[in-house]
Amino acid sequence: MTTAAIYLRQSLDAAGDELAVQRQRDDCRALATARGWSVVEEYKDNSISASDRRKKRPDYDRMVADYEAGRFQAIVCWDLDRLTRQPRQLEDWIDLAETRGLLLVTANGEADLTTDGGRMYARIKAAVARGEVERKAARQRAAARQRAEVGRPPLGVRLTGYTPKGELVAAEADLVRVLFERFAAGDSLRALAAWAQQQGVPTRHGAPWNPSTVRTLLTNPRYAGRAIYRGQQTGRAGGWTPIVSEDLFTIVQVKLSDPRRRTHEGTDRKHLGSGLYLCGVCGDALTSWTGGRYRCPAGHLTRAQRHIDLYVAGVAVEFLSDPDRVAELRARLTAPTSENREAAEQVRVLRERLTRIADEYDSGLIDGHRFRVATDRAQAELVTAEAALARAANPAAAVLRASDPVAYLTESSLMIRRGVIGLLFTVRVHPAPRGRRGFDPETVTFDWS
Ligand SMILES: [Zn+2]
Repeated sequence: MTTAAIYLRQSLDAAGDELAVQRQRDDCRALATARGWSVVEEYKDNSISASDRRKKRPDYDRMVADYEAGRFQAIVCWDLDRLTRQPRQLEDWIDLAETRGLLLVTANGEADLTTDGGRMYARIKAAVARGEVERKAARQRAAARQRAEVGRPPLGVRLTGYTPKGELVAAEADLVRVLFERFAAGDSLRALAAWAQQQGVPTRHGAPWNPSTVRTLLTNPRYAGRAIYRGQQTGRAGGWTPIVSEDLFTIVQVKLSDPRRRTHEGTDRKHLGSGLYLCGVCGDALTSWTGGRYRCPAGHLTRAQRHIDLYVAGVAVEFLSDPDRVAELRARLTAPTSENREAAEQVRVLRERLTRIADEYDSGLIDGHRFRVATDRAQAELVTAEAALARAANPAAAVLRASDPVAYLTESSLMIRRGVIGLLFTVRVHPAPRGRRGFDPETVTFDWS
């Protein structure tokens, strides 16, 4: 006698006309009886989707294992959708019917894998279902792409700084802006993560801030108002309010991709002048030394840090307190040169090209493959052009644009103060005269920018 299994599943995703499991069972048993099969096992999964591969269906898996173990020769289910909505799984069952003689029938009469005609019908159904799955995925991609094109925020987890509809959340937007500014000015990802954690604003996933979440935030082009689709910038502006400027965003990307940054990461300087002040004798950078001192690596001098740092900061504050001198330096350092004008033009041209490629793809002039190739090439050129643009801009120059440059300097982190001092002048420290006590300002000299 042929042994048979019955598979039952009640899913809640077709609410309204859902068949009760009891009715499925009655129909399946009646069919088994009509065929003269002996039911040896019943498998039943409740309210579990058959279309989502990630959802576990314990009894379904048990049934597959039992069939492999030879516990039965036939399966009766109410319809094929009850058994599986994944075309690939359905094809596996059809294969088993063809190659190993599995007898699979549905009680609703739609499929009978015991006959050639029934198997052919099931194959057609699987092919149609697979096409439908693929079309659905394509539709979802097209919809996401369209959202990016019209500049609407993507669906999904909302971005720190915006509501799910893309409106600004003031406190979060401030945090995002400061993260960009401070990173551009020289703070490390680690220092910024610690700072963000203190601010009490949660990350988008609610987890604590760490260098990696800060990095992810800093690389999101949506903060500069750029629309992205599948991780690629579309070259179009988003329809939401940017939190940072294009320039600042670009500078941050260049700094993030700078291979030299990695060696500094995690080793935030603890002293204002180490690696920044130069030895007045040999010109090498001073390093910090025991007892709160700076030292020339070649041994030309060892000097107490405190007085030198206070003096250097005082000179910087004096300079920044003079609006005329600040304006003059700002004009000099931020004036557009022919080099950065060229880079800016190149960036504009490449963004336009990306938009045109997307248009051509949308109107069917180029296929997906050519779209990808052309987009990748333009993206690569854009990265290079943006790097050139960022090199032409000095992030520490933000101090020269601040409404209160002195406050900007004194309230900033150590790494930013170092950046500002490096922008204003080069500090040279000379050996202290022998036998002299106290600090002599004459032993610290400045080469002004
Ligand atoms: Zn030296």
